[in-house]
Amino acid sequence: IDRQLTSRGAARTVTSLAAMLAHEIKNPLSGIRGAAQLLEQSADDDDRGLTRLIMEEADRIVKLVDRMEVFSDERPVDREPVNIHVILDHVKRLAQSGFARNISIVEEYDPSLPPVYANRDQLIQVFLNLVKNATEAIGDDAEGEIVLSTAFRPGIRLSVPGGAERVSLPLEFCVRDNGPGVPEDLLSYLFDPFVTTKINGTGLGLALVAKIIGDHGGVIECDSQPRKTTFRILMPAFVNASGYDEEASDEDKTGGE
Ligand code: ADP
Ligand code: MG
Repeated sequence: IDRQLTSRGAARTVTSLAAMLAHEIKNPLSGIRGAAQLLEQSADDDDRGLTRLIMEEADRIVKLVDRMEVFSDERPVDREPVNIHVILDHVKRLAQSGFARNISIVEEYDPSLPPVYANRDQLIQVFLNLVKNATEAIGDDAEGEIVLSTAFRPGIRLSVPGGAERVSLPLEFCVRDNGPGVPEDLLSYLFDPFVTTKINGTGLGLALVAKIIGDHGGVIECDSQPRKTTFRILMPAFVNASGYDEEASDEDKTGGE
């Protein structure tokens, strides 16, 4: 699927670009900010508004650069078996006490789902970004609804560069919204960095999501139509000695072929 190809390619490109930009931007930026701060001390009230503006905007760029640096950070992250429902509940709580107060968030969980082997903070970031996008797409539509669903999808195969790939014991996590949908011409670029339709958007949210999911051995795709936009993540289940027996479940799902 092209979109998955895009998401993986984007993750690679952004790594070197972000590392380079972050490095090149931060020094001159702190120079600009420092100069504005000096100017402020001798400025009259009118000019003080302008020096404030310079500093605020400089701070905004620093934040942006910090986010880009996440991409270029190749240090290994701590991983542990994580119950995805704990993550989703946490994100739901964050959203409903913050940016998604007036949107109903519905859970459709398969409670028997095994854990994934993942970094908690990164997974929270993934679902926060997806729920935030869904919220922004819904806007002030009073009927707005976001569905968080989980399911076990044994036997599923994904088309990725280099041929079909099987995520072993894939777990599916979906974030679905009933907003207006992704503009059609955007669908194939969705996971590229700096793609945004928002005035104050960074276009980095989905690029970061794709990077994190890819790092966890998973894939993400988007299926969008008006009133039904689904971001679907497939990630391998965590398997240990006493847990799922991958060979046995391979037999199960290929037995009839
Ligand atoms: P940003 O949110 O900063 O614009 P993202 O990478 O998070 O950057 O999203 C990129 C673009 O994808 C958005 O600007 C929007 O046009 C589109 N998009 C993302 N999620 C959705 C959604 N749930 N419904 C409709 N459009 C979406
Ligand atoms: Mg976003």
